Amino acid sequence: MVKAIILCCNNIRDRFCIGCERCLTAARERKGEFEKFDKVDIVGIVSCGGCPGYIVPRLKLFNKWIDGFDDYDVVFIGNCIKAAINLGGCPLDLDKIVENVKKLTGKEVIVGTHPW
Ligand code: SF4
Ligand code: SF4
Repeated sequence: MVKAIILCCNNIRDRFCIGCERCLTAARERKGEFEKFDKVDIVGIVSCGGCPGYIVPRLKLFNKWIDGFDDYDVVFIGNCIKAAINLGGCPLDLDKIVENVKKLTGKEVIVGTHPW
């Protein structure tokens, strides 16, 4: 079992992707990018905080927030962030996000989430 967080697009979460139901279902049923793990426990869904995207500061804040309560092994970059970058004029650079999140957390980073 791994504990994981999902990084998401503040513009898409709960506007187009209501309640993050797709990622939560995929994680629970081990579909899409979650399939390689025998069990995935999502301990947080952390948004970028809005354009132009504050992934690293938000992640630092989240790490403080869960300190002493919980922890995580894997960071998933949500499909919403991929869609925002590829189709929505998002100013973030996906490769840089992966690099910076790895540098900050030292944890496994997986790009993509649910299969739908
Ligand atoms: S792709 Fe996943 S994390 Fe992103 S908004 Fe949709 S359900 Fe939430
Ligand atoms: S478009 Fe990019 S920077 Fe803007 S809210 Fe979405 S992920 Fe964040």
